Amino acid sequence: MADDVDSPSSSEVEGTEDRYFYLSDQEDDIAENVLQDLEDGQQEDCSWSVSSVITKESLLAAQKVDLRKVMELLALSEHNARTLLIHYRWDVERVFELLEQKGKDRLFSEAGLTIVENKMIDLSSCCDPFTCSICFEEVSPTAVTEMDCGHYYCNECWTEHFIVKINDGQSRRIRCMAPKCNAICDEAIVRSLVSTRHPDIADRFERFLLESYIEDNNKVKWCPSVPHCGNAIRVVGDIYCELECICGKQFCFSCLSEAHSPCSCIMWERWKKKCHDESETVN
Ligand SMILES: [Zn+2]
Ligand SMILES: [Zn+2]
Ligand SMILES: [Zn+2]
Ligand SMILES: [Zn+2]
Repeated sequence: MADDVDSPSSSEVEGTEDRYFYLSDQEDDIAENVLQDLEDGQQEDCSWSVSSVITKESLLAAQKVDLRKVMELLALSEHNARTLLIHYRWDVERVFELLEQKGKDRLFSEAGLTIVENKMIDLSSCCDPFTCSICFEEVSPTAVTEMDCGHYYCNECWTEHFIVKINDGQSRRIRCMAPKCNAICDEAIVRSLVSTRHPDIADRFERFLLESYIEDNNKVKWCPSVPHCGNAIRVVGDIYCELECICGKQFCFSCLSEAHSPCSCIMWERWKKKCHDESETVN
């Protein structure tokens, strides 16, 4: 009976394959498919919800669909759209709602998105050496980087700062080094500065950003299979539903326990605790 939970037969996997999407070279096509998949309702039905499986390969495409919506509506760069979406837990509808309620400026500043129209210095046209206000070294303008918030420091200091934050597990929200500055650093700058010195740490940074789509998202969760199948499930509609991953694992999306309808999650939790306590007493 061990093989009926986590390991579906190969025919089952093949049978479901064309219902899900995999990443290929044509990211655009894939992104379209993700949307199509959600719109067509080709998903598993749970009472008021539809769900779709996000494989490791389609994670990037799924994330791009949401990024693109925000980039288009608010005319933002990918980095700024990501900062906004991470702050609002990848809930695109919520971002649009809040935009109506609060207006662009408040929406942005609460998410740590600071865009300074007039930069303080023009690094490209300057040739005098700069003094970095952190390490007090004199460096050439080419070794200085300015963030969107207008603060600039030497690349060495930025790199150190990024590495400390990535190692601390704070990749998704690396703030500017300036005291009291709330701005989130541009991921492209983080990527390029870190990768020149520590490609392995840059890879980790990349993975954290990608996985934020699952970990900072109320509508997407990792499949709770053990050993982990690598998939995540995305739900549209009611999150109190039961579903099945393509690996065969059936679970409650809300509490991630095994499927337990018609019991509520709280009742199920209590029942499991009771069984556990009783077995302790017997032993
Ligand atoms: Zn410095
Ligand atoms: Zn700053
Ligand atoms: Zn699974
Ligand atoms: Zn539950």
